[in-house]
Amino acid sequence: MENFSEPMGLLIDNTKCIGCRACQTACKQWNNLPAEKTTFFGGEGYQNPKDLSGSTYTLIKFHEIIENNKIKDWGFWKKQCRHCIDPACVAACPVPGVLEKKTYGPVAWDDTKCLGCPLCKEACPFNIPRFTTDINPKIRKCNMCNDRLEEGLEPACVKACPTGATIFGKREELLKIAEKRLQEEPDKYFKYIYGKDDLDTSVLYISCFDLEKIKGYPKD
Ligand code: SF4
Ligand code: SF4
Repeated sequence: MENFSEPMGLLIDNTKCIGCRACQTACKQWNNLPAEKTTFFGGEGYQNPKDLSGSTYTLIKFHEIIENNKIKDWGFWKKQCRHCIDPACVAACPVPGVLEKKTYGPVAWDDTKCLGCPLCKEACPFNIPRFTTDINPKIRKCNMCNDRLEEGLEPACVKACPTGATIFGKREELLKIAEKRLQEEPDKYFKYIYGKDDLDTSVLYISCFDLEKIKGYPKD
């Protein structure tokens, strides 16, 4: 049963993120994903664990923007599948039905026929798909909590976020909210809506700094 008849999406606003990682934890809990043994990662992003994996579908990273040897700005950034409007992963997958763009937003997966080839990962402009580590690897990535959406519930990360840094709604309405925030507080935001002004995606970002300044972005 589909409860959402219009294209839905997420708006992620890093000016509201406090880096608590409640979203990361909620994602693990809802998807029943095991913890990973990690050590502190002191490279670009400072996140823990170091990267997305078959058991980590979203990550909060921390970035400093350095200009003239000084910290010009800093903020968090939530890495996850962008749920592209025209997803390259779906086009690249040789097996029909493994990946599917739902009319209401998510690019969902059903791994029963996944070959682990991994053409979806190679095609993704954001380097998102990951795989299980068993002998027959299967795709793993954020599916926008499609099982919750089918029950009319918002994604687990959205429900857990205490500050409203990640909100869920109709993509058209999220775009209006993003435009309004940029218009009303031009000094607070970099004037760009990621997911609208570049590749069209169901996940939109607005940010206090230009995300393109993050080393390795958008693939890292
Ligand atoms: S971000 Fe990558 S994995 Fe997610 S829908 Fe787009 S192409 Fe597919
Ligand atoms: S790894 Fe699985 S989901 Fe990805 S392209 Fe291959 S069959 Fe499709």
